[in-house]
Amino acid sequence: MTNDVFQTIDSNDLVDCFGGSRLGDARARAQELGLRITSTTGGRHAPGSYHYSGRAFDAAGSHGAMRQFYREMAGTNPTELFYDPMGGIKNGRNIGAIGGHGTHVHIAY
Ligand SMILES: [Zn+2]
Repeated sequence: MTNDVFQTIDSNDLVDCFGGSRLGDARARAQELGLRITSTTGGRHAPGSYHYSGRAFDAAGSHGAMRQFYREMAGTNPTELFYDPMGGIKNGRNIGAIGGHGTHVHIAY
């Protein structure tokens, strides 16, 4: 037992533990655009929210950056994408603004 080797898992595996690599990519892109990740699994969300299962995050920053982020993420087939000034997408369908998302972009895969 003294010869056990413990390996660190690489960051891609870590990302897989946290909502899959698409969520990780989206998160990296949000940060590139200067957005702050304001909520991942913490905070208060609607019952059954993807936040609780680690499949969603919220990003906030300038409206220009949030708009840009929404536009780019809309093309990645997210499960949920909400930003009231731009609208909302759920399961690939445009559902329009859902309210409560005027100050941050919510994204889930
Ligand atoms: Zn959210």
